[in-house]
Amino acid sequence: MHLSREAIVAGLEQIVGPDDVITDEAVLTQSSIDNFRKLENIFGVHTRPLPAAVVMARSTEKVAEILRFADEHRVNVIPRTGATATEGGLESAVADSVIIDGSAMNQILEIDAYNMQASAQCGVPLQVLEDRAREQGLTTGHSPQSKPVAHMGGLVATRSIGQFSTLYGGIEDMVVGLEAVFPGGRVTRIKNVPRRAAGPDIRHVVIGNEGALCFITEVTVKLFPYFPENNTFLGWTLKDMKTGFEVLREVMVSGYKPSVARVYDPGDAGLHFSHFAEADDCVLLFMAEGPAGIVKATAEGIEAIVAGHTECTKVDSEYISTWFNDLCWGPDKITQEDERIRQTHNVNRTTEISAGWSCINDIYQAARARIVSEIPDITMAGGHSSHSYINGTNMYFNYFYNIVGCGPEEEVTKYYLPIIGIICEETLRRGGSIVHHHGIGKARTPWVKEEYGSSYCILETLKHAFDPNGIMNTGTIIPR
Ligand SMILES: Cc1cc2nc3c(=O)[nH]c(=O)nc-3n(C[C@H](O)[C@H](O)[C@H](O)COP(=O)(O)OP(=O)(O)OC[C@H]3O[C@@H](n4cnc5c(N)ncnc54)[C@H](O)[C@@H]3O)c2cc1C
Repeated sequence: MHLSREAIVAGLEQIVGPDDVITDEAVLTQSSIDNFRKLENIFGVHTRPLPAAVVMARSTEKVAEILRFADEHRVNVIPRTGATATEGGLESAVADSVIIDGSAMNQILEIDAYNMQASAQCGVPLQVLEDRAREQGLTTGHSPQSKPVAHMGGLVATRSIGQFSTLYGGIEDMVVGLEAVFPGGRVTRIKNVPRRAAGPDIRHVVIGNEGALCFITEVTVKLFPYFPENNTFLGWTLKDMKTGFEVLREVMVSGYKPSVARVYDPGDAGLHFSHFAEADDCVLLFMAEGPAGIVKATAEGIEAIVAGHTECTKVDSEYISTWFNDLCWGPDKITQEDERIRQTHNVNRTTEISAGWSCINDIYQAARARIVSEIPDITMAGGHSSHSYINGTNMYFNYFYNIVGCGPEEEVTKYYLPIIGIICEETLRRGGSIVHHHGIGKARTPWVKEEYGSSYCILETLKHAFDPNGIMNTGTIIPR
């Protein structure tokens, strides 16, 4: 039998004490969504079921007790740390869910400069860990735009990626080991070793689980030496994305490892580079970092490749370094953007996909053309490629629209989901992946079966094996 809301709250209070069980209605309402339906918080119109409580977890033992209680009574739980999710992973799909908030588990446990790894609890903001590492001349190499606000647990749970990924990789390349709690309260630790061939890599059951399999309590990531004095920036303007993708491809397949390698289309370039780029210019840019000799060789190699494309015009590297120094989004920028939306009813959204070199330009062209022709009230549709690999790259669609003729609570169904649908269709049609780094959340579940194809049974089996009672973040990754 399902517990009443009062019984859920009483059960949680017994575990963590009343002070750590939040039932204030304003907090619960705000916690029923994330950035996927951010307009509901901006305009104060809420449509999702109300959670029963936000419970502050302060130790692995308490997480285990909460998950034991939830599993026994079939209470849906939603793990949370930094609360910067963009795809509905924090959205309550069913009434009386419990949000397990790990943000108070915020201790850096060790910076091990000899073995080049750092261990942190799930609620440590990445910026805090990075700042501590830099005090010792080290870096995590991880720099998502949300670095000031996202926490280690969520960054691992979403399989996040940062701006320097072309050199350091995504979080999956950085995680050495971790601790996680599974439904029923089973605490598991994956030890920290440089590599092992002892069967499947079980870190990948946890990395990217989006709170749908387990709660991550502790993470150990690699550290790298930090040489900011050697950072070198390069930029060019050019007239078409196809050439931009081709330059990125040549740089990657030649074996160079710039930390940043990007190409912006004219619409997106206009948001950042209008002080030097013409309205129809694309912008190609790179950053090389690391030991001086490597930086020099990387920059020279990139210059030589771009020289083979005479349509590229070099720009002052100062423009690129200035752009680079203002990349991250802390609470101030997020509040400013919310205020802009409140005043203008003009909404900015993004959707990121990945695909091989041979089809990325076709996906970009086809999806962009359809967004402009099929979706009303678009004020800008563009994007950039920002994470490249030897065999392909990502495309980060960036688009704006005015909300016209509907309430803010209908924005997702009238505009956002149809645009995501176009991007997913054009990507799947050409064999790409519908999610490069934000996670599936609840937003992209309509396309998840097609994304996985015949391997969908592996995902379903994992879910059933680890969460047989279906209490972990219902409706996330796997549709309800
Ligand atoms: C302005 C802005 C910029 C962004 N830039 C980037 C970027 O550059 N790169 C990028 O990859 N992402 C980016 N994101 C998306 C977001 O920041 C990432 O997905 C981030 O990893 C989420 O971390 P978080 O701590 O905020 O997690 P939350 O928002 O708290 O949770 C995200 C998901 O992970 C689950 N989860 C959270 N904590 C745990 C845990 N301890 N155990 C198990 N599951 C958990 C949640 O249930 C949810 O499904 C951006 C978001 C914003 C708002």
